[in-house]
Amino acid sequence: MKWRSHISIGKAIADRLELPPGERKAFLDGLVEPDRHKERIGSQRRSYRVGHHHPSHRTFMLHVWIARRSFLRNDRYQGYRHLGMALHYLQDRSTSKGLLGLTHSRREEALAKLDVPERAIVLGMQGAVSSPRFVSRSLALTKPLKDPREVMVQASFRSAAVAAAVVDLERPRGLRQRYQALHRRHSLILLPAAIASLAIGLSLSAAMASPVPLVLSAGVSLGAIVLDRPYVHLSRLVEWYGLKGR
Ligand SMILES: [Zn+2]
Repeated sequence: MKWRSHISIGKAIADRLELPPGERKAFLDGLVEPDRHKERIGSQRRSYRVGHHHPSHRTFMLHVWIARRSFLRNDRYQGYRHLGMALHYLQDRSTSKGLLGLTHSRREEALAKLDVPERAIVLGMQGAVSSPRFVSRSLALTKPLKDPREVMVQASFRSAAVAAAVVDLERPRGLRQRYQALHRRHSLILLPAAIASLAIGLSLSAAMASPVPLVLSAGVSLGAIVLDRPYVHLSRLVEWYGLKGR
């Protein structure tokens, strides 16, 4: 996607969020940053370039989490900068590359001439849910499209939804209590059950020189892990609201 398209979607979102000039600038800078210098992730010795039109889910979520943590500690510049970078990847993903990229540049030209559909921005924001699951799902639902108008609607809608989700810090009621209850279940019952059954299976298998007890106990442990999934989801949500820091 061309800079102009990234920027015009960004401006429409910034207008809706009524961003003050400094934060608006940080957001728009973030939106074009990934094209400015190809981003590298990983350590210095072993880094790899982030492919632009195949943005990994991981890179997107990485920026989303940095943005979210920045907002939680009230560092709004950093928050908007990384939110912009995350949205860049989402918007690029919206554009189909076409066969061998031949039609790609023509499509991007056409796209750059379109206005941002205000309705898509409004609807995207209205439907947003502030959670990491919603944000991750929004990216997964963003498909490469061919028709420039459809690309514009999708990119605007999903970008607005993700932006609204990441900036909304209002904590759902009772989140802490729900987490504490599940945490108790996790640490007092499910985790010990998973470990104990594996330990028993392992010692029986050793005593009987047979893998059967271990296999059976692994099944029990797996069951405990499955039962524990609501806890895993909720602990991520708790982190999203800054109730549990990393
Ligand atoms: Zn790009």
